Amino acid sequence: MSDPEEYVGLGGWTPAELGRPGEVRPVVSAPDPVLSRPGPEVDPTSDEVVRLAADLIATMRVSPGCVGLAAPQVGVSAQVFAVDVTGHPKTLTVHGAFVLCNARVVEASRWKAGREGCMSVPDLTGDVKRAGRLVVEGVLPGSGKAVRLVTDGFEARALQHEIDHCAGLLFLDRVAGAHAVYQRKVYL
Ligand SMILES: [Zn+2]
Repeated sequence: MSDPEEYVGLGGWTPAELGRPGEVRPVVSAPDPVLSRPGPEVDPTSDEVVRLAADLIATMRVSPGCVGLAAPQVGVSAQVFAVDVTGHPKTLTVHGAFVLCNARVVEASRWKAGREGCMSVPDLTGDVKRAGRLVVEGVLPGSGKAVRLVTDGFEARALQHEIDHCAGLLFLDRVAGAHAVYQRKVYL
């Protein structure tokens, strides 16, 4: 169990704190090598990272069904990602829309398989085992404030998927085998 004294949360952070509108960036698809490269840590207070954070939020917003987007997916090798699972039917805990830099998993439990997709792997989905309860530490862009998020369910899954992107991993690297990969249905 984590010590409640250590729970910091987002402190009411919203993308408005970035102080600038984001621009939509093109999303790259596998096998682009940037998706397989571990991203370096960033300076969360730098103008470049604040702009990247705003752009990740903007790009996520215009992408239907998108619950998370990591810097490598817009061609930038860096440990920065956005998540927003608001309104998703499988969600329990929701922190709203946020961006984390240099995030790492500090506690993970209640592992469970579930179906995942990815904007950078548009034709496939796969069954991936993820922790259903998760504690993540990271830094907010702009202020550089360190945060500790305790979450579960679908938000925990989304966070693990995005942290993987920052480490150069796709959900395809996490599936149990070819039998756990599925062709997406084609909608004409
Ligand atoms: Zn993805």
